[in-house]
Amino acid sequence: MMLAPSVQEWGTSMSTDDDMPSADQVEAAEAGRPTHPQEPHAGGIAGRLNWLRAAVLGANDGIVSVAGIVIGVAGATTARGPIFTAGLAGLVGGAVSMALGEYVSVSSQRDSERAQITQEKRELAESPEAELAELTALYEAKGLSAGTARTVAAELTARGPLAAHLDAELHIDPADLANPVQAASASALSFVSGALLPMLAILLPPATLRVPVTFVAVLVALALTGALSARLGGSNVRRAVVRVVVGGALGLAFTYGVGHLFGTAIH
Ligand SMILES: [Zn+2]
Repeated sequence: MMLAPSVQEWGTSMSTDDDMPSADQVEAAEAGRPTHPQEPHAGGIAGRLNWLRAAVLGANDGIVSVAGIVIGVAGATTARGPIFTAGLAGLVGGAVSMALGEYVSVSSQRDSERAQITQEKRELAESPEAELAELTALYEAKGLSAGTARTVAAELTARGPLAAHLDAELHIDPADLANPVQAASASALSFVSGALLPMLAILLPPATLRVPVTFVAVLVALALTGALSARLGGSNVRRAVVRVVVGGALGLAFTYGVGHLFGTAIH
């Protein structure tokens, strides 16, 4: 992050243009675009990476839960009908559950942000002086001198008091509140895209190859999603892949075993 030089530095270097941002930089900063090459900005690349990471985790969920279901049923029966029905039920049920969970959590987050915005509006209307003092204090706490902080707070308040307080105090961008419907559809969609893989892997091959093909396809897919989400999260890729592949293999073997055991017991 580029910080403005301290007051003393400003005093001595005001005459050179090097310390002043270019018009392009100011425009980029106002639009929320990167102000420096190769520097991810919150809401820019970082925001998109978070979104991608959520999609990868959703797909991962779809792969694991539907693979468990179809492998478990395949352990009990070789008939395609029940395998397909169980897989489809798992796909639909999982997608609905993901969407609902996401909808509830994003809605309550948005409700609390809206409540904070309403409260801030009321405070600004009732006691503008106290709010200006509050904003000044926030900028002093960031390291500005009392005078500079007062100037910054006054200028931002003149431009738009609510936006200034939401940004400095609550870190909310009112133009960018989370959308529950969008979040719910995205997570359902990523779950379904992951769930389709074990469905196809178990239904397409001949009966004798069903289980091994699904095992391999699921473990390869888990290795890929594990590597991708580790990369996006900045953690160790190899360790994440080993963890997810070993865990996935154990889980699938377990569900196959349980399906086989109960399938033969209940016949
Ligand atoms: Zn305030």
